Amino acid sequence: MTHDGRAAIVGAGPNGLAAAVTLARAGVPVTVFEAAETIGGGTRTTELVQPGVLHDVCSAIHPMALATEFFRRFELSRRVEFVVPEASYAQPLDSGGGPGGRAAIAYRDLARTAAELGRDGAAYRRLYAPVLRRLDGVLDFALGGSMTRLPRDPLAALVTALRTVEQGTPLWGVRFRDEAAPALLAGVAAHSIGALPSLAPAAVGIVLGALGHAGGWPVPVGGSRAITDALAADLLAHGGRIETNHPISRIGELDGFRTKLFDTSTRGLLGIAGDALPARYRRALARFSFGDAATKVDFVLDGPIPWRDPRVGAAPTVHLGGTRAEIAAAEREVARGRHPERPFVLLAQPTEFDPARNPAGVNAVWSYTHVPSGSDVDVAARVIAQIERFAPGFRDRIVAHSVTTAAALSQYNRNYVGGDFSAGAITMRQLLARPVVGAEPWRTPVPGVYLASSATPPGPGVHGLAGWYAARSALRHEYGLDVPELGLE
Ligand SMILES: Cc1cc2nc3c(=O)[nH]c(=O)nc-3n(C[C@H](O)[C@H](O)[C@H](O)COP(=O)(O)OP(=O)(O)OC[C@H]3O[C@@H](n4cnc5c(N)ncnc54)[C@H](O)[C@@H]3O)c2cc1C
Repeated sequence: MTHDGRAAIVGAGPNGLAAAVTLARAGVPVTVFEAAETIGGGTRTTELVQPGVLHDVCSAIHPMALATEFFRRFELSRRVEFVVPEASYAQPLDSGGGPGGRAAIAYRDLARTAAELGRDGAAYRRLYAPVLRRLDGVLDFALGGSMTRLPRDPLAALVTALRTVEQGTPLWGVRFRDEAAPALLAGVAAHSIGALPSLAPAAVGIVLGALGHAGGWPVPVGGSRAITDALAADLLAHGGRIETNHPISRIGELDGFRTKLFDTSTRGLLGIAGDALPARYRRALARFSFGDAATKVDFVLDGPIPWRDPRVGAAPTVHLGGTRAEIAAAEREVARGRHPERPFVLLAQPTEFDPARNPAGVNAVWSYTHVPSGSDVDVAARVIAQIERFAPGFRDRIVAHSVTTAAALSQYNRNYVGGDFSAGAITMRQLLARPVVGAEPWRTPVPGVYLASSATPPGPGVHGLAGWYAARSALRHEYGLDVPELGLE
């Protein structure tokens, strides 16, 4: 069935494409306009460092790829091959990483994780066990849509809130005696850029950590672009169109479309549609603030990383920063507008799990670190020193490396204002009002205009949920179709 009233999607990131697929499957004629030469937004995989060697430009770690309701309904696991390692992430330490080790490892198996955490193992298990027992409810609470909704499982929401308060305040050390378990928790919380301890990173850490102990942190074979390629293929199969190299600057360019969904930042929407938006909503968008940023440092190595603790090689994601106190100190420096001497570094080593992605013997390593907004500082030496600290000999394995500063990232993708890849700072206030408070924050006051990017709930990450929620809202209001799971059976 085809519906009258075409829909335009501005931006072909995972959220824009998720929205497009949802509308197209419901019979709405859809055109996606993408400013860049290729689709993908934050999920592109290219020859970033060296010809013939593939690196993920932005996202590389996909804890939500097999876990969110949208990707489950879309059957992403049938369309893209994923490797799900037994270890989700690792936190190397200078000393004291549990019995015999110099790292804390988060395995899918919580009991194994706890067993390797020594005398804090039981406390760590007690932290996560109730979250894992009610994981569906926890995911519904954290990722299920507007924060004004009543949670489907109130007990799961309570458990999440209690864990968030514990880990997001000075109480965060209350149950632990050693360094390893707190460092493991701080490393996963620091996926969200911001001072530690604070509530928003703690909430992010609890949810990502729980996924690490449940379905795992899968590695897409071929790189992150496999995810958006699968969305685009499905869109085309359902009659949708994609126009790349087609930036949209004014809403008037979309006059022929009944519905317009923007996979843009709030600033992007203001620039395109500012005059059409009511003053109050315009002010809310202008108030929505951007956070600190990321600078990428990617490597081509001639072999595996020589981790001091060899167990670290079995984890696709590694959090480098040492103890919880050190990670907090590094994040504090960034919040004060400085570049830490010993930065927190997120590192992915996909070659170990997806060897066919690149020529034999080539190890493509991805990393980024947090920097102040808009930074154009080359932090490669500090990142290399931080990796070398836990992997002596790393430096000698480097064949080539490239740096993409926060300033360059903001040029690469206009949604990353100042290099903030969350399209808006992750604070408790901005998780509740993203970018406004309401039952349907994707729907703007202008008829037919929706915001569908990670500037809306549930925020950043490759999950497709913001696009899916925005498209469902549009289907309801613009096309009179009110079947929640519509289009994705
Ligand atoms: C360095 C880095 C590392 C990351 N690591 C991870 C990770 O490991 N795991 C994870 O889950 N997430 C990660 N992310 C975040 C993730 O990439 C984003 O949260 C996600 O891509 C957001 O999806 P989106 O569809 O909302 O926006 P985007 O992916 O940013 O896509 C928006 C698209 O819209 C286009 N666009 C914007 N304005 C216009 C316009 N006016 N006209 C036409 N087109 C327009 C842009 O060109 C872009 O292609 C990372 C991001 C960065 C930068």
